[in-house]
Amino acid sequence: MSVIDQVRVSPELDAWLRETRRYLHMNPELSLEESNTANLVTGHLKELGVKHRSHVGGDGRPLMVDPSLLQAAGLKLKPTRGGTGVLGTIEGRAPGKTLLIRADMDALPLDEMNDTPYRSTKSGVMHACGHDAHTTILMGVAEVLNGLRDQFDGTVKLMFQPGEEGYAGALAMAEDGILDDPKVDAAIALHVDNQIGVGEVSVAGGPVCAAGDIVNITVRGVGGHAAYPHFAVDSTLVAAHILVALQDVVSREIDPFQSAVVTFGAIDAGTQSNIIPASAEMRGTVRVFIPEVQDLVERRIKEIATGIAASMRAEADVNYLRWYPPLINDDSVAEIVHSAMVETVGAENVKETERTFGGEDFAFIAQRVPACMFRLGIANPDRGITYSMHHPRFDIDEDALAVGVRVMSAAALRYLGA
Ligand SMILES: [Zn+2]
Ligand SMILES: [Zn+2]
Repeated sequence: MSVIDQVRVSPELDAWLRETRRYLHMNPELSLEESNTANLVTGHLKELGVKHRSHVGGDGRPLMVDPSLLQAAGLKLKPTRGGTGVLGTIEGRAPGKTLLIRADMDALPLDEMNDTPYRSTKSGVMHACGHDAHTTILMGVAEVLNGLRDQFDGTVKLMFQPGEEGYAGALAMAEDGILDDPKVDAAIALHVDNQIGVGEVSVAGGPVCAAGDIVNITVRGVGGHAAYPHFAVDSTLVAAHILVALQDVVSREIDPFQSAVVTFGAIDAGTQSNIIPASAEMRGTVRVFIPEVQDLVERRIKEIATGIAASMRAEADVNYLRWYPPLINDDSVAEIVHSAMVETVGAENVKETERTFGGEDFAFIAQRVPACMFRLGIANPDRGITYSMHHPRFDIDEDALAVGVRVMSAAALRYLGA
């Protein structure tokens, strides 16, 4: 019997997965604040007898990025809490290759609108990206692979990371040496996907997620009374012109086959209707796959924002932070994941991942070692589970948890040559 046939999720483990995911869903924690989640993870690894290290990644913030850049980009820097990253290590029966498997643990600043018994108990915080499922699945994978450790050679590293949602927790853990000693040969990860049904999975080689840059524009005019606009320089009007003009970069200056996304998700200006504010702040994100397009968009945002501001008697400071790189799946690792999927869920349930302009900080790992992120279907229209990630009604069909554990474990064993 092949070792893959022994990758099973018992009814007890399945019940545990559902219960654990619900607990995490009810107790979400924001980026870099995942200490309760990390405690749950370390408790589980301890119970399994899996070697592990806590507080990996320092305070969860990447060292190579100047904090003032992060601040200028609108990322809220948080007080040091000792870091929440956890790294578990399972050694097989003999030396061999080393595979890293990654899960992210953070939730989003969002009010949950679902009315389920397991809805978030914290107002303004919600697991709307499925990271509760990712963490749960990796804990399940730890249990399965630890149980089979006398049947494979090599080492499995289990990476539970903080701060995926904009804070580059994966980079902080990489800088803390998780890819060394033993040196990681490849890495895999999964992300839930509402575009595919529960029971289905998808994978593809090549680019799967876009680069996610952060752009922050401060427009400075002259404040004044709303009734005397000629004595003021209206910063909100200048910001509005800049906002509209920047959309033309995408529609008129980029090859339509290459494309990009420029979105300003936050604009802050003013206090009340009868005051012209002296300044306006625009915070946005740029998504691209191709470095030349990234260069063009960065340059044109700076030129257009400062040019429009100058023409309207104002000034604009543009802060552009190159942040998450594009996620490029390694073809050969993707091939191994694909064959493990076919063995586990059958070829009819294996799709090809469609590229998305979403950003993903697993890209920092994929920049350093051959890696593959695959997708796990969680949608179930019959049960009303169709909402996309980051939506206040996002939910998953929990049947996906066992599928995730089986596919991930099988892919790990296939990679290690078991
Ligand atoms: Zn997300
Ligand atoms: Zn996510």
